[in-house]
Amino acid sequence: MPIKMVVQCCGHCGNKTAFTIAASGSQPNGMFIQEKEITIWTTWRVLLCSTCAQPTLERDIQKVKGSTGSIPPGRSESPEVLYPVEQSIHWRHIPPRVQ
Ligand SMILES: [Zn+2]
Repeated sequence: MPIKMVVQCCGHCGNKTAFTIAASGSQPNGMFIQEKEITIWTTWRVLLCSTCAQPTLERDIQKVKGSTGSIPPGRSESPEVLYPVEQSIHWRHIPPRVQ
């Protein structure tokens, strides 16, 4: 049964809270490495924060044995967050342009 809820930190409101997986899509890319067939699965998910209701977009790249006809793997431990972009302290504290 696929996971429908995850708990993580929200890049919008900063809370560690539950997220609902609102949408997901997967793209398989099959290849042979040392004569063994493997599939690189790229999965994108839209997660909705239960606290502020803002969306987070993540990309999950996983390498699995077998052909592209198999089902996509479950969510990995640490998918890459594409949105919101993490703002560094450095950038946030740069003053407006000086004339
Ligand atoms: Zn939030």
